[in-house]
Amino acid sequence: MRICRFNANRLGIIQGDQVFDVTGALAVLPASSYPLPRHDLLIANLDQVRAHIEKIMPSAVPVPLQRVNLLSPVANPGKIIGAPVNYRKHLEEARSDAGIHHNNQVLEIQKIGLFLKANSSLVGAGEGIAIRHPQRRNDHEAELVVVIGKTGANIDRKDAWKHIAGYSSGLDMTTRGPEERSMRKSVDSFSVLGPCLVTVDEMADASSLDFSLTVNGEPRQKANTRDLIIGIAELIEFASSFYTLHPGDLIYTGTPEGVGPVVPGDRIVTEFQGIGRIDVAVRLAAS
Ligand code: MN
Repeated sequence: MRICRFNANRLGIIQGDQVFDVTGALAVLPASSYPLPRHDLLIANLDQVRAHIEKIMPSAVPVPLQRVNLLSPVANPGKIIGAPVNYRKHLEEARSDAGIHHNNQVLEIQKIGLFLKANSSLVGAGEGIAIRHPQRRNDHEAELVVVIGKTGANIDRKDAWKHIAGYSSGLDMTTRGPEERSMRKSVDSFSVLGPCLVTVDEMADASSLDFSLTVNGEPRQKANTRDLIIGIAELIEFASSFYTLHPGDLIYTGTPEGVGPVVPGDRIVTEFQGIGRIDVAVRLAAS
């Protein structure tokens, strides 16, 4: 299934260029009370939600995908994990460009480890990106995103696949500068996710997907996920050796070479094989 969220908290299934409204399936989610769980309620109950979607799908009303405002397919992840410099050519690019490394030492991911982005930075493609520091360089980073489906700690890479709910694509937006990554990458709207969650039964293997990114139609990034330095299963093993992974947690797996700046007025389009396309407008944040 290709599950999306759109407009005013509608739940949808994307088929071709249409979205079928299956918001009624949210009724199967258990009532939650304070304190809220650390997981995303929909992803933690994905099997029940999917069973209900199957029931109501025959009578679901389609709307053109182009006409909906896409929200993040995961509403409340417990955490957003990022993998820094996880493509070899991007490591070389980062080391050779002062505008990227900003006199920070660029270390291999095996040494530097993973980072976290604020959950409040998460948006869907239709919400757009708001630049807060237009005087600084703000870069796009197209990334495959893994959505965790099952709780686990110290997960062996052999078992990692059992912990994946599905895949999505995203933008790990970054203000370049000397601050810690977690600050520069946590600006509101700097974690874009979409267009949908592709569940694992629809995409068994995401380890060799072509993807690309353009800005105003100009090609910037083009790569394949087979070139990840630390692959999907190893990322899950690495992350879960430090913290428990919960349903709905997101792992932004890293970006390939070709990162570059965007400014208000730009349009970023990414295409991920098997996942789809997002078209994201960049604007100046309201002051
Ligand atoms: Mn990144």
